[in-house]
Amino acid sequence: MQKYEKLEKIGEGTYGTVFKAKNRENQEIVALKRVRLDDDDEGVPSSALREICLLKELKHRNIVRLHDVLHSDTKLTLVFEHCDQDLKKYFDSLNGEIDSEQVQSLMYQLLRGLAFCHSKNVLHRDLKPQNLLINKNGELKLADFGLARAFGIPVRCYSAEVVTLWYRPPDVLFGAKLYTTSIDMWSAGCIFAELANAGRPLFPGSDIDDQLKRIFKLLGTPNEEVWPGISQLPDYKPLPIYQPTSSFAQVVPKMSPKGRDLLQKLLLCNPALRISADDAMAHYYFTDLPSSIKHL
Ligand code: ADP
Ligand code: MG
Repeated sequence: MQKYEKLEKIGEGTYGTVFKAKNRENQEIVALKRVRLDDDDEGVPSSALREICLLKELKHRNIVRLHDVLHSDTKLTLVFEHCDQDLKKYFDSLNGEIDSEQVQSLMYQLLRGLAFCHSKNVLHRDLKPQNLLINKNGELKLADFGLARAFGIPVRCYSAEVVTLWYRPPDVLFGAKLYTTSIDMWSAGCIFAELANAGRPLFPGSDIDDQLKRIFKLLGTPNEEVWPGISQLPDYKPLPIYQPTSSFAQVVPKMSPKGRDLLQKLLLCNPALRISADDAMAHYYFTDLPSSIKHL
């Protein structure tokens, strides 16, 4: 730990506290994440440590680089590349205006990061604006990747805050345990809509029932016909029957019809039908993507 000089606290998240710090050897600015572990008398579980060390190999321009893992008997500190801010803070600075080229660029980078991780069989499972970091030059990087597998799906935060349900797909809300890449694609859809609305969340539910109702009011209540197996999910319960509103134009008024087509393919209740990150990148919404962004 002598290697890093702590500068200031920059965040508090699901797993612990994050500090800005300087590497004393090369002056590099990094983000140090001190992970709190529930059963602190047990020390760091070896399974978690194994998972975390695998993440050091997850190198991609749209994934926050994990430089180092520092581990003493009871403490775990992750050393990450430092970014300017997270997407939630960026939204707060926008005053309700964002241009459509920027939405397209950020969404493309989000999908590119996801496609890479999914190709390595790593899931995020807790995608939300607080876990997307951006730099002043327009780069977007996914943070907190793979931590859900190492430490378990977050059910509560290290800080008093409750974990948000807003980005969770209906299958997970119904207690599905066999997670696949489709969980991240749903969250990407919610974030896409939020980007287009300059930071207004799409489904800001207050609890699991309210979350599901908000989703089904827009998309229609799914049944065995559109989603075979739904009624077998562990926490399945029949909810009011809503008809799909087909009013995506009202929900994301500033998004182009092409964008809305992609959004609908991300927000499919049946996880088996949800579009993959690779296919989403190839969607015609991105045909006019500037080549400068493709190479960013
Ligand atoms: P947790 O796993 O505890 O949720 P996060 O990695 O999401 O922790 O970090 C919590 C917050 O700290 C983020 O929402 C972000 O605001 C800030 N943060 C985290 N990592 C970085 C980083 N590499 N660069 C800049 N800010 C960061
Ligand atoms: Mg986080």
